[in-house]
Amino acid sequence: MGTDAVDVAVVGSGPNGLAAAVTMARAGLSVRVYEAAATPGGGARTAELTLPGHLHDVCSAVHPMALTSPFFTAFGLRERLEFGIPEISYAHVLSGGRAALAYQELERTAEGLGVDGPAWQRLVGPLVARLDAVVESALSPIVSVPKHPVAMAQLGLAVLASTRSLSAGFRTEKAAALLAGASAHAIQPVSSFGGRSAGVLLSALAHGSGGWPLPIGGSRAIVGALLADLEAHGGEVVTDARIRSLRELPPARAVLLDVTPRALLGMTGDVLPARYRRALERFRYGDAASKVDFVLDGPVPWANPEVARSGTVHLGGSAVEIDRAERLVAAGRHPERPYVLVAQPGVVDRGRAPAGHEVLWAYTHVPRGSQRDMTEVVTARIEEYAPGFRDRVVASAAITARGYESYDANYPGGDISSGTASFAQLLARPVLSPTPWRTPLSGVYLCSSSTSPGPGVHGMAGYGAARAALRDVFGVAEAPRLGPAGAPPPRSTGRANRPAAG
Ligand SMILES: Cc1cc2nc3c(=O)[nH]c(=O)nc-3n(C[C@H](O)[C@H](O)[C@H](O)COP(=O)(O)OP(=O)(O)OC[C@H]3O[C@@H](n4cnc5c(N)ncnc54)[C@H](O)[C@@H]3O)c2cc1C
Repeated sequence: MGTDAVDVAVVGSGPNGLAAAVTMARAGLSVRVYEAAATPGGGARTAELTLPGHLHDVCSAVHPMALTSPFFTAFGLRERLEFGIPEISYAHVLSGGRAALAYQELERTAEGLGVDGPAWQRLVGPLVARLDAVVESALSPIVSVPKHPVAMAQLGLAVLASTRSLSAGFRTEKAAALLAGASAHAIQPVSSFGGRSAGVLLSALAHGSGGWPLPIGGSRAIVGALLADLEAHGGEVVTDARIRSLRELPPARAVLLDVTPRALLGMTGDVLPARYRRALERFRYGDAASKVDFVLDGPVPWANPEVARSGTVHLGGSAVEIDRAERLVAAGRHPERPYVLVAQPGVVDRGRAPAGHEVLWAYTHVPRGSQRDMTEVVTARIEEYAPGFRDRVVASAAITARGYESYDANYPGGDISSGTASFAQLLARPVLSPTPWRTPLSGVYLCSSSTSPGPGVHGMAGYGAARAALRDVFGVAEAPRLGPAGAPPPRSTGRANRPAAG
């Protein structure tokens, strides 16, 4: 493990840790990242989980925020690697071969929703019209002075309006299910604040210029671009280095921690002031994901053939059924008919599997800490909407909720959001502050998705923490230039890092 003094030590190499490291290195500082696993990347790794030559995204697969987050926009991610943008951002399958389709084109989506088309346009249209400002507002600490007050107000109004849309606002099952499927990403009842916020934001992103893109080659391409930039600016990553105490780190002027509040408590012992320690102890972790990766000998035989053109597919029935399933999970139960989220990378990236094969990524929600292998449940659920699916399966690999915790310490009990995204915890993540990354320890910052703005591959927690550290510790007020001019090509992230079987 590197022990020489550095300007900045970063613990954890997820998208947020790497965003923090790149920002500090671009400011001309020496940076070393310590990563517990054998490869960098956190929730953005890609690996051969099933058969040789078949590339599966271990965690994140679809990246609505990669092309819109202010950090990745400044970093020029779109210029550094290739994304495939499906014509249909997401589909929601319903019984009888029906499907609601969120095309990248808003008007086309509205046409497909029939009588509910105008209501869909009224709900997300104003957000789509000023998407960059909306995303920047959504990805800023809620208590900060809004940079885009109009966009912020529109987002708030859409979240309020979505309550009605999920129940009575829409007249058809299709439109309500289309919104509910996006809301359920929050792993909470779809009518909760967190669910509704995720629903309107993700639905608006579906109609933006980047849609719901997938990186060609898998999520590890994003990590590759970040690592290449970090290394080109003198930074380094030490792998197989789990940090258990801040005392294990070399002398550093700033320490940025891509870890959960729980881990920070463990690393600091009793040195944190009691008030802050209590805030970290109060931080709540949410329910979990349990995933199955499939290899198929052809595309999924969806009953509705249009669905085969969508990068992402939600299934779980009507909005009411999805809400019911998510409530069961929140009550600690495994629903018999759960919500399932499916990604079909082959729609835009033929390189993920050898000719004749497809990889399919699918996860469902389970109570935190679940050890249940969901292969059969997920298979049966897809089969309902794609008769003959089961016969196409050549191989599969499951990762349980508990398996995710062992894979990445930032997912306690399999909580892939690293902390419930409830209203209270979106407001105070982990504390109520315009600079929620700052800890009471001088020079020590939290920068994981347990901090504002929460889960997703957007790099904004890392960027926010790094900007705060630059200001506080190094007296640098201006953001360093992050753009790709002269940037080296993304480097390969090396040998595949596999999760334990669960
Ligand atoms: C199944 C699944 C599906 C998902 N799907 C999507 C999706 O499609 N789109 C999307 O945008 N997001 C998705 N996410 C969420 C996304 O992956 C996370 O929100 C994101 O990766 C968080 O980034 P992070 O840097 O905060 O933490 P992480 O990516 O979790 O990285 C944390 C890193 O820190 C390391 N670490 C932790 N503790 C220590 C320690 N003590 N010492 C050293 N290293 C340590 C870990 O090993 C890990 O590498 C998904 C997540 C999962 C698990």
